[in-house]
Amino acid sequence: MNLHIGVIRGDGIGPEIVTEAVKVLNKVGEIFGHTCQYEELLLGGASIDVHGVPLTDETIEKAKTCDAVLMGSIGGDAKTSPWYRLEPSKRPEAGLLAIRKALNLFANLRPAVLYEELKEACPLKEEITEGGFDLMIMRELTGGLYFGERRTEEVDGVMTAYDSLTYNENEIRRIAKRAFEIAMKRRKHVTSVDKANVLDSSRLWRKVVEEVAEEYPEVTLTHMLVDNCAMQLVKDPKQFDVVLTENMFGDILSDEASMVTGSIGMLASASLNETKFGLYEPSGGSAPDIAGLGIANPIATILSAAMLLRYSFDLDQEADAVEAAVSRTLKDGYRTGDIMSEGKTKVNTKEMGDLICERICRK
Ligand code: NAD
Repeated sequence: MNLHIGVIRGDGIGPEIVTEAVKVLNKVGEIFGHTCQYEELLLGGASIDVHGVPLTDETIEKAKTCDAVLMGSIGGDAKTSPWYRLEPSKRPEAGLLAIRKALNLFANLRPAVLYEELKEACPLKEEITEGGFDLMIMRELTGGLYFGERRTEEVDGVMTAYDSLTYNENEIRRIAKRAFEIAMKRRKHVTSVDKANVLDSSRLWRKVVEEVAEEYPEVTLTHMLVDNCAMQLVKDPKQFDVVLTENMFGDILSDEASMVTGSIGMLASASLNETKFGLYEPSGGSAPDIAGLGIANPIATILSAAMLLRYSFDLDQEADAVEAAVSRTLKDGYRTGDIMSEGKTKVNTKEMGDLICERICRK
């Protein structure tokens, strides 16, 4: 297969961690007989330096011609970087929001995986995390409270603020379909999270999700109220496979879920649209404090590349091979500084990439 992939190297540690993920994709290509064709795209600070703006039409158009985009993080140190003397709409992060909008990326996927080898980084009790866990938060990204009408006004002499939470059935249906499709590639269980005992938008959410579930008879659907879900994530995270939820609930639950896995350097993410296209990036930022030192953990970006193989190209075997190579490398005792513990071997960004590449193989 020919994989046409856009590459946004980004700022800070971005170029360092993306280099390792590209190395992994090339190794997968070599072993499984695919060719990777890369399109270099500028976004964020790197784009400001060249074009004076964080995102150009050219980047959007080029990204649209690709099957998927792999991205490092963007942004710099807000106190010292000249990018932050620009008005907010010209700063690096504005480019990221704009590209998500331009590419209609409405579904955000954040896996939270606790590797047995890294369980000491998990703040939960050992009896809860025994054997690790592997769940996926699927958050609606372009609707709901964050995009609703808002205003603040004086009503009868009292300052009053309004934020409206709106979802239509089409917005719910398209994300629900993606969640069930993804569950079909996993353990075939969707937990749909809402607040249907209070909110109308949640009652519609539940109704539409149930309709979509009928098209996926192999997948088990459970409904859970968001307050209960927040508790269950720390009480028994192993019960979850795909957690499907709206924008604000997903914002909160995905951070909670990632916190219980330990290190930011391990957290992959993807934002998808209605086609197979997706933007794949680590959940962490550009870590300006360690940029250029060659010590950043590339695993989140490498796992994002595995998601790209799985969700944009349906290359499940190849994605499994990358994930297994990451697991193997951790089992063999190699760690970057952020996940280092006693008795393990400390390696730098490039060495970690090389070690993972060496362990990629066909089953
Ligand atoms: P950050 O995630 O960049 O860093 C927080 C801490 O985690 C730092 O100590 C950093 O060294 C460490 N860290 C992060 N990724 C790591 C990795 N792969 N390996 C080892 N250590 C790692 O968060 P921040 O400092 O709040 O933000 C820095 C910049 O990143 C800001 O400009 C922010 O806007 C931007 N940012 C971008 C994205 C994105 O591109 N999607 C997301 C979050 C933050």
